Amino acid sequence: MKTEQVLADLKRRFPYEPEYHQAVEEVLYSIEDLYNQRPEYDNVNLIERLCIPDRIFSFRVSWVDDKGKVRNNMGYRVQHNNAIGPYKGGIRFHSSVNLSILKFLAFEQTFKNSLTTLAMGGAKGGSDFSPKGKSNMEIMRFCQAFVAELWRQLGADTDVPAGDIGVGAREVGYMYGYYKKMTRQFTGSFTGKGLAFGGSLMRPEATGYGNCYFLLNMLATKGVDIKGKRVAISGAGNVALYTAQKIMELGGIVVSLSDSDGAIIAPEGLSQEQFDYIFELKCYWRGRLSQVPDKYPSLQYFHGQRPWKLVKCDIAMPSATQNELDDSDADALLAQGCIAVSEGANMPSTAPAVHKFINSRILYAPGKAANAGGVATSGLEMAQNSQKLSWTAEEVDRKLQAIMADIHAQCVKYGRIDDNYVNYVRGANIAGFIKVADAMMAQGVL
Ligand code: NDP
Repeated sequence: MKTEQVLADLKRRFPYEPEYHQAVEEVLYSIEDLYNQRPEYDNVNLIERLCIPDRIFSFRVSWVDDKGKVRNNMGYRVQHNNAIGPYKGGIRFHSSVNLSILKFLAFEQTFKNSLTTLAMGGAKGGSDFSPKGKSNMEIMRFCQAFVAELWRQLGADTDVPAGDIGVGAREVGYMYGYYKKMTRQFTGSFTGKGLAFGGSLMRPEATGYGNCYFLLNMLATKGVDIKGKRVAISGAGNVALYTAQKIMELGGIVVSLSDSDGAIIAPEGLSQEQFDYIFELKCYWRGRLSQVPDKYPSLQYFHGQRPWKLVKCDIAMPSATQNELDDSDADALLAQGCIAVSEGANMPSTAPAVHKFINSRILYAPGKAANAGGVATSGLEMAQNSQKLSWTAEEVDRKLQAIMADIHAQCVKYGRIDDNYVNYVRGANIAGFIKVADAMMAQGVL
């Protein structure tokens, strides 16, 4: 494989998809040595078949708002690769959604799902519909219209969606309900469902908690304790809030959160009472972080800013969205002595920022390893659904911790480089790639 040539071809054939190019580029440079040692891969042009999704569905979603006006959004499902299991990956509802973002997410998902050691292929879907400011009924009508187009492509052994940005338990419930109506089947064809109808305990917590478990594994390699460490977190959604909750439980100090309007800074660390208030504000009242200083004036709100340059921290856990931490943010974090970055979001650090972290030899965990606890627990939800059983929270948490330790071990195995530094990007990409590549080789040219 000549990596530059493969990338140039992809950019020529699929122009205007920068996030997709960025994700592919990172993986290709990590795996090129291994790939080139195995000519049998290149003989069947494995790399191109792995980079280009198996198939993509795109469709119009028409729905009626509360004023009776007909609205139109775009819907997509990218089924990237099912060499090791049914397609699996979340659905994102956000105004920024386009095919480039979903192709990057589906590509990443394939490697992430492989790392979990569970039998799941990679997929991602979504719409440029924004749930923000919509009524409950509007969201329900949109979810139903979305699934009316997509249900034929889904199924417990075919393609199993879950949540992502803008899609939580409420949206999954509406989509699963409509799927069930169309198919007349009660199967585990969505994950992230409510507990009363097949959801798994610990699934809401899993991505954030899993990222903390991964961080603990990384810190242990340096003999560093999380207790008393200042942790900057971005986002204030599912991943960020459960990350903050677990960090506080472990004795860390949470110094920031953010939403798409701005960041909240807690120079002395969030108290349990302040965190509980923010959790309720975001999860139950769908409020904004800008409202927080009204109740707690000691917490500072910075409109339109991200946390990285605003507060001193030992550890950064970006947990909002892609490319939310750039090279100048990386400079700021490194200058203040940040020792670890563990990504809750998918590809939150730009490529130049990642290079700076790795060149500085700090602990740096890419999202595809550190946030894999979410999809891993979705895999556990699928296992419970197929057995018609529910495991206890302790059981799921134990399995989650074991899976995160296993992912960490795989990263170390394939990521250790000359000076004994563990390059977790390289480790995650190689470990994820080998399993998928070998399965594709065994199954012939498809
Ligand atoms: P949520 O919708 O629950 O929360 C997203 C948070 O990020 C919100 O606070 C949101 O702010 C903020 N945000 C969204 N878009 C932007 C933006 N363009 N700029 C700044 N802030 C933004 O999503 P999740 O917490 O589920 O997902 C967060 C990240 O984690 C995503 O990258 C997702 O792909 C990844 N992830 C999620 C998993 C899961 O299990 N949910 C699993 C693995 C990865 P606002 O409230 O203003 O919209």
